[in-house]
Amino acid sequence: EWFDLAEFTGDIIEELNGIRKTGQQIEFHQTGEMEILQDKKILRNIFLNLLSNAVKYSPEGKTIHFSIEIKQKTVFVEIKDEGIGIPEQEQQNLFGKFYRASNVNNIQGTGLGLNIVKRYVELLDGTITFTSKQGLGTTFIVEFPQK
Ligand code: ATP
Ligand code: MG
Repeated sequence: EWFDLAEFTGDIIEELNGIRKTGQQIEFHQTGEMEILQDKKILRNIFLNLLSNAVKYSPEGKTIHFSIEIKQKTVFVEIKDEGIGIPEQEQQNLFGKFYRASNVNNIQGTGLGLNIVKRYVELLDGTITFTSKQGLGTTFIVEFPQK
């Protein structure tokens, strides 16, 4: 169905209030068309997983940048954090089932979120990539076509 992107992302960001640490903000930025035609449940799952990771793996006071551009029939999403990052030698394992990096310390998780995200993105005929530097932060880029 068609839906309003700002309203949809606003609700998701609000849901994350419960896990945000002191001073963590999620800054949302949107460009291009305002409405989107895609499976809402799948998108919600993708965005909640990636944003909750950004929150979980970032310290207090760090801003998370969330941006979406809808251009013609393509949707470009970027979720960027200034968190703990992922050690370079481990990055190739990231989408594997139950995989957790060695620097998570006492941060809780099962290692399933990204595996599910990857499969959902593929269901949309999309792609997901990331860049990360340990100690500096991580950026996920998701691209998919509208229905
Ligand atoms: P859950 O299943 O509850 O999401 P999880 O967060 O550990 O648990 P994934 O979301 O699949 O699992 O992420 C896998 C691993 O990738 C994490 O354990 C962490 O090591 C690393 N990771 C994911 N996102 C980030 C991020 N934004 N910054 C740093 N490390 C990350
Ligand atoms: Mg996770």
